[in-house]
Amino acid sequence: MPADSPIILRVAVDAPVSTVFDYLPAVGWTGDTPAPGMRVLVPFGRSRRMGMIVEVATRTGQDPDRLKPVASVLDPAPLLGTADLNFVLWAAGYYHHPPGEALFSALPARLRRSSSPLQSGAPGWCLTPEGRAGVADLTRAPKQALVVRLLLTNDTGFSSAELKHRLGDCRGALRALAARGWVEPCRIASVPRTGERASATGPELNPHQRRAVDAVRGALGGFCVFLLEGVTGSGKTEVYIRLLQTLLAAGRQALLLVPEIGLTPQLLRRLGARLDAFTVTLHSALGAGERERAWRCAAAGEAALVLGTRSAVFVPLPRLGLILVDEEHDLSFKQQDGFRYSARDLAVLRAQRARCPVVLGSATPSLETVHNARSGRYTRLELPRRAGEAVPPELLTLDIRAQPLRAGLSPVLLRLMREELENGNQVLLFLNRRGFAPVLTCHACGWVGECPRCDARLTLHLAAGRLWCHHCGWMRAVPGACPDCKETDLRPLGRGTERLEAELRDLFPGISPARIDRDSTRRKGELERLLGEARRGEIPLLLGTQMLAKGHHFPGVTLVGILELDQGLYGADFRAPERMAQLVVQVAGRAGRARRPGRVVLQTRHPNHPLLLSLQRQGYPAFAAAALEERRQAGLPPFSHQALMRAESRDEKAASEFLERAARAAADIASKGVAVLGPVPAPMERRDGRYHIHLLAQADRRSDLQAFLTTWLVRVRALKGGSNVRWSLDTDPQEML
Ligand code: ADP
Ligand code: ZN
Ligand code: ZN
Repeated sequence: MPADSPIILRVAVDAPVSTVFDYLPAVGWTGDTPAPGMRVLVPFGRSRRMGMIVEVATRTGQDPDRLKPVASVLDPAPLLGTADLNFVLWAAGYYHHPPGEALFSALPARLRRSSSPLQSGAPGWCLTPEGRAGVADLTRAPKQALVVRLLLTNDTGFSSAELKHRLGDCRGALRALAARGWVEPCRIASVPRTGERASATGPELNPHQRRAVDAVRGALGGFCVFLLEGVTGSGKTEVYIRLLQTLLAAGRQALLLVPEIGLTPQLLRRLGARLDAFTVTLHSALGAGERERAWRCAAAGEAALVLGTRSAVFVPLPRLGLILVDEEHDLSFKQQDGFRYSARDLAVLRAQRARCPVVLGSATPSLETVHNARSGRYTRLELPRRAGEAVPPELLTLDIRAQPLRAGLSPVLLRLMREELENGNQVLLFLNRRGFAPVLTCHACGWVGECPRCDARLTLHLAAGRLWCHHCGWMRAVPGACPDCKETDLRPLGRGTERLEAELRDLFPGISPARIDRDSTRRKGELERLLGEARRGEIPLLLGTQMLAKGHHFPGVTLVGILELDQGLYGADFRAPERMAQLVVQVAGRAGRARRPGRVVLQTRHPNHPLLLSLQRQGYPAFAAAALEERRQAGLPPFSHQALMRAESRDEKAASEFLERAARAAADIASKGVAVLGPVPAPMERRDGRYHIHLLAQADRRSDLQAFLTTWLVRVRALKGGSNVRWSLDTDPQEML
């Protein structure tokens, strides 16, 4: 570049703006050229904001004399390499999210908020030269001697976490040694692996697993998408482990994405026992410091395996060679607010850019993924049978029309439960509704408890003595008398898990049921404790919500009863049957994982519903085929593509008026293969005191939809009168709430 050409820093500012801005280097700056991927502090409007350099250019579309200099460059080296930076920017473009906000939401929280310089490395301790010489003098301080001996094995010291892991609490010894001047605090560049050497060997693969492993191994080094479809217990995790072993032995990095609830200590233990690799985890339960260190270990290429929930899809991995997405159908891969991305879809994109294979695993793949496999874009690998000797459960539907129900249980289900319990087996009941009852009503005048802020009823939580809105969290004490007529005959209608638990105590005296839902597991450690007891067969009768449905193995469960899923067959959301079938199969997967066969009983008032019949008789793949055919005929995703514009306001009219203007703004550009439908009220129009309105854009071709959205959003952003209206766009929405 010519010596006199200016240096222009193109910056994505962490603010709700859709463009990037040009700045000049900082005043008085003489150093190296700031590079893309470094954070900067920039003047923005009347304040300062964080931003990230996305490009260093020599030209600007603006008058260079009017550009402002950045206030400061915050990082000595880029946080994101060009490929990682461009990946996030691509995602921001696809989801039509402000690029700066997207970039900053892809960083660990501490780097998002604080502008302080980064601490490199974890806090730790190392020996001083005096300490090195002094070990012989420590015969009367055994703990100090242990610390010194360990520190002697590594010139660069050990992190505090590692010291604690190896020696237990040694803060007292460290203080004493520091007082003598024998140790000093230092920073440890990376977190050394703390697990024992992996020693366990796995089972011999069955032919289906072998084929799956060979197929993916054969594709390493290039882009390819695999759907690994296997029922729960068919050995998918074993396939992941073999693939990870191959990849890590070749010195590459791997990313394993799991649903929020899937990151269990069990999985970590299992991977730790089998993989001799430095593994870091990334999920929301980590502290900010831990998270940042894990992220940096991955970005520096030190961590070989990153195990994380959805946001880990953005973690920089310089030697990425394989991406695995477990339970790919899980909704938690979709970010539902702010930067609304699908980590599953982005994993596929990322693999394409990194030229590596990606494996999407599930017993119940999303219809989008099934469709891609059927059309040949993804390679389907099937694990049709349970691994080892486990026998698959049998699914029975039970017609409960005109049946006398006790506690919502039909006579047949009750009889089956008695039999299993008498034989010392475990029974699991699934009821996807927490609380005591979904409605409290006055028998005298018909009053029902309603949320003052939502179009919703208040759920009765009897033990807590509360009426509680599950949509906005509003609550009140259970009234002693009807607020309207003052009569005291208030009655609960319907049933949640809390009521079912109480009823089961009466129906099965001497057997104490255990309930697993969000209310019963609020205390830290409680869920782990209950799941552990259930796994060891110590709880004969288990009941719970979908917290029970995922990932957990209960080898002693021989009977699963599924209550009240019918709304899934006729729900307002076109994805309701898909979600219902996925839940049924996932819950069914809890049963009979050892050598005892399991039975799954589904109570229904619609035993002849075609989708239910195909699920019951032919299993999930047949269900998926039938459901896809319905979607095709209706022109719904994955046969079309959608973007949902949501608007909300405290003012009853403002949100719908705003979307009406947005719809008008679309009128002359929507013609080309794009339909704009609405505005219509959201399924629950009033929520948390605000009115929620929807406008849906739909197109047969993704590219048409994208082109439309780009033009349309420029106009929508320019619409006036939206100050009391909040709006957002959700590309490829998964929930129509
Ligand atoms: P999934 O991830 O599909 O639920 P897992 O990989 O967890 O299945 O396997 C289920 C159980 O079967 C585990 O206990 C696992 O150790 C065992 N298993 C997996 N593959 C085999 C195999 N080839 N032979 C014997 N047991 C196996
Ligand atoms: Zn009343
Ligand atoms: Zn509410």
